[in-house]
Amino acid sequence: MSDAVIEVEGLAKSFGGVPAVDGLTFSVARGSTTALLGANGAGKTTTLSMLLGLLIPSAGRITVLGEDMLRHRYRVLPRMNFTSPYVDLPHRLTVAQNLIVYGRLYGIRNIKARVARIADELGITPLLKRPTGNLSAGQKTRVALAKSLLNEPDLLLMDEPTASLDPESADTIRAYLVAYQRRTGATILLASHNMAEVERICGDVIMLRAGRLVDRGQPAELIARHGRSTMEEVFLAIARNEDGPPPDEATEREARKKAAP
Ligand code: ATP
Repeated sequence: MSDAVIEVEGLAKSFGGVPAVDGLTFSVARGSTTALLGANGAGKTTTLSMLLGLLIPSAGRITVLGEDMLRHRYRVLPRMNFTSPYVDLPHRLTVAQNLIVYGRLYGIRNIKARVARIADELGITPLLKRPTGNLSAGQKTRVALAKSLLNEPDLLLMDEPTASLDPESADTIRAYLVAYQRRTGATILLASHNMAEVERICGDVIMLRAGRLVDRGQPAELIARHGRSTMEEVFLAIARNEDGPPPDEATEREARKKAAP
């Protein structure tokens, strides 16, 4: 079996003829924590949604945990989970009820004990009896994280996992994710705008611009390659296109020049 948990080839998605994801090819290694970075609108959420099977690609192939996602996603969905600030849990249910419902959907045994344990680990025990709709943004983020870990996923897709968390809470959650990844060997792919977070927990980075992959590597490699001192500076340089066009655009331009009379 391949050591890649995610393999994406020529992935594309257009909305009304406008490309959001424009021919992505990449793989994500088993047991890695990989960041998907890019400016607003670069295509991160669209990519994660296609990896989950929530959006049908306009073109391309996705293999997750050895299965073709377009044909057999129900074989792998039980081994995956995700968290996103854009998905709201039902407001009127208490936090405990929500977690129990999701736990049952995943067929988890002893779900009440599992919910109690994960709530304790993530510091949300005091929230369990509260209606989910009344929680603050940061509290909702923690609950969504608990939901995403209920089934101990082998592949965890995270869209801005620490959005709205205060610095101390965000730090605790990052430490939890690192420990979870070490304990289970899970693979984590996360979209983030927090470059300090990426430097701290991600061993690998995929940079997107306008739906295309423009660079890839370990944070230290990217920092060295772009002659910068932090991932924040690398991000800004790539987002503003200060380091020249991505390789494929440069090659195309060169080819056009050669072809011109
Ligand atoms: P952000 O950092 O702001 O969350 P993102 O990198 O996650 O951005 P996406 O949400 O994937 O970006 O959006 C990529 C592009 O696709 C954007 O131009 C967006 O407006 C467009 N888009 C996304 N979803 C839809 C949709 N359902 N209908 C039309 N356009 C969409």
